[in-house]
Amino acid sequence: MIDVQQVSRYYGSFAAVDGISLSVQKGEIVGLLGPNGAGKTTTMRMITGFLEPSAGTILIDGADIRANPKEAKKKIGYMSESAPLYADMMTAEYLDFVARVQGIDGAQRVPELARMCGLEEVMHKNICDLSRGYRQRVGLAHALMHDPAILILDEPTSGLDPNQIIEVRNLIKRIGETRTVIISTHILGEVEMLCDRVVIISRGKIVADSPTAELRTRFGRKSTVRVQAASCSPEELASALSPLGGTVTTVAGEENTPDGTLSAALVAVTGDTDIRAEVSSIINSRKWKLYELSIERNSLEDVFRALTSGGNDE
Ligand code: ATP
Repeated sequence: MIDVQQVSRYYGSFAAVDGISLSVQKGEIVGLLGPNGAGKTTTMRMITGFLEPSAGTILIDGADIRANPKEAKKKIGYMSESAPLYADMMTAEYLDFVARVQGIDGAQRVPELARMCGLEEVMHKNICDLSRGYRQRVGLAHALMHDPAILILDEPTSGLDPNQIIEVRNLIKRIGETRTVIISTHILGEVEMLCDRVVIISRGKIVADSPTAELRTRFGRKSTVRVQAASCSPEELASALSPLGGTVTTVAGEENTPDGTLSAALVAVTGDTDIRAEVSSIINSRKWKLYELSIERNSLEDVFRALTSGGNDE
């Protein structure tokens, strides 16, 4: 449905987007995730035909956005980060205006969009008096006016309060059921909630492209088990735990217990295995006393940080 091939965009000699390739299938919801300045907006503006690539090709359902922009743009609804709205118009008036400009029968389409985007209560309010959450919904209604098969949403929840974020995300989820969607964000949780697939972009390049559910497993799943035991020295503890195959770091504990001073160890392992049961049986078999056994898994935030380390503008 969307085929981006080797696309770059230069500002002077600076590559804001640097040779990215991306294919999005019909019905997919893809999250374009990256830190500030990574090149998300530039990429989206090129896909929507608002910005010329310096190199590469973009096909929208087979139509080249440069050679055949009219055909390609018909299929796309775009909501930019700060939806450009005429603030002194009422919602209904504004959507009627957008319909007229696009040659669409507003009398039928506008009430449909009001229902779809939950705007019925605010149709007769001025846009400047609406909350940011409602303004985003008006932006979405605008993007959906010509019933596009593809929706491109640039940071649709940025600047919203937590309740508004939930409402707008639910709305996107509903709308995305029947459309192909690319949504940009720097919030990992948003991608996990909304997207089937995540494309991570950093300094103008794609650094990961993976089904959302697989992201954690595919990119360096790690866990660290923390153990505290008494009746053993840190060296004894390290040597007993070393057959587990992880990196063992031990420290002499400071805490005194009825069983003696605690020794603590951290065992870092890669992969999906949970070694807590083995640790417990090692300690028990030596008749040491187990005081603590906990596991900490790396989070998606860690994966994201590792993939985009060095940041951009941040
Ligand atoms: P944000 O989350 O902050 O919107 P982004 O990932 O959308 O970030 P872009 O807006 O695409 O990033 O910007 C990518 C890089 O290109 C940034 O370093 C930005 O400063 C630079 N850039 C964007 N537009 C221009 C421009 N018109 N002239 C020069 N540099 C630009």
